[in-house]
Amino acid sequence: MDIIKTYGNYIKKNMNDNPNRSWDLIRAGIAANGIKSNIVPTKKYSKGNRKLDHLIMKMNTDAFYNLDKYIWCNIFAPVEIFQCFDLKVLSIETFAGFLAGLHCEDMFIDYAQSEGISPTLCSYHKGFIGAVDSGIIPPPIYSVTTSFACDGNLNTFRYLAQKKGIDYQLLDIPYESDDEAIRYVVKQLEKLIKELEIRCNKKMDWDLLKEILKRENESKKYLKEFVDVQKDTYYPGTMTTHLFLSIADHLYIGSEEVRDLFLFMKEDIKKYPKLKGKKIFWTHVIPFYQETLKSYFNFNENLHIVATDITLDYMEELDIDKPLEALARKMVKNIFNGPYENKVNYIENLVKELNPDAVINFCHWGCKQANGGSILLKESMSKLNVPILILDGDAMDRRNSHDGQIKTRFEAFLELINKEDEKSC
Ligand code: SF4
Repeated sequence: MDIIKTYGNYIKKNMNDNPNRSWDLIRAGIAANGIKSNIVPTKKYSKGNRKLDHLIMKMNTDAFYNLDKYIWCNIFAPVEIFQCFDLKVLSIETFAGFLAGLHCEDMFIDYAQSEGISPTLCSYHKGFIGAVDSGIIPPPIYSVTTSFACDGNLNTFRYLAQKKGIDYQLLDIPYESDDEAIRYVVKQLEKLIKELEIRCNKKMDWDLLKEILKRENESKKYLKEFVDVQKDTYYPGTMTTHLFLSIADHLYIGSEEVRDLFLFMKEDIKKYPKLKGKKIFWTHVIPFYQETLKSYFNFNENLHIVATDITLDYMEELDIDKPLEALARKMVKNIFNGPYENKVNYIENLVKELNPDAVINFCHWGCKQANGGSILLKESMSKLNVPILILDGDAMDRRNSHDGQIKTRFEAFLELINKEDEKSC
């Protein structure tokens, strides 16, 4: 922990005078972590979660060291198309999360704010903007964002285009989810493919796209099987594990690596013991660094996150014979698109299926998406008689999460769900 803090201080120290050095330290830190998780695995982790940890570090390292073919995006972008051009993705959310993991998020957030970026903007965006504007991150060959799920994306990508000349395509995903909406998105995907053909000087490989979608279907099937066992099994991991699972399931879905990992995990989990403690369903982003929450959730067989809504946000089978329609449908029908009720209904079904003891909805600083609908979610959970905790904080900027406050509210909630148990005995 102290070593990471010291490392983060070096990154911050070099940020103004030698941004290239800061960038080297960031990517070397992540690469070293990936090597460490493979060579000196943390014994406490389950085998699959250890492999997951290694995979996320490796995929990001691939992007950091292949700058001639890396692309920026958000986590809902159609990465399957990028894979056809052998592009390596760097997502805003993941990179900002790494800054927090390296204990240097504050400097980048402050940098963005000192340039006039509003303090009320989501800290993932502020961190990323600060890192780009301070000259740390080299420019990509292109950037792509979806309009849904996050109203910060368009502003961030537009800002970076104006300020740094980074070209981007906005995939405008309609609020409605009818056939016309799907056709409208397909047209935009065709435009994206034409753009990538020019930028990568390579023709689109349609057979490869079908292969990728086939792997994606297999991966989702294995993931479903894994989650189904995980709901009653203690599979040791951390809060970060759940974050990484959602990253693997979005940014790298369709790759051989993710398919093989999910296949491994769904078999490996069967060797682990039955879960004894409380089960929590988590909604929205995960504050993986938060001290109190870490002390309760990391490697604790008595308190377990069974799944998160982001990981399971779209689980339908993709139609391999109509690949662009399938990708358009995946975005249009995602639970984070359209009215918040869609998401609430989906979570209700997941809660019925996974049977958690409680739900935690994390309201991340600056995220209208998480804050705006939390009352609707609360109402729906009380209909199901499932206790819910709406926890305010910041999943990235440590300074916006007051540990004392989180501890008091979280422990009072734990007490409540334990009492519910006593009542029913
Ligand atoms: S937390 Fe909210 S505002 Fe921030 S990136 Fe995610 S969806 Fe967007």
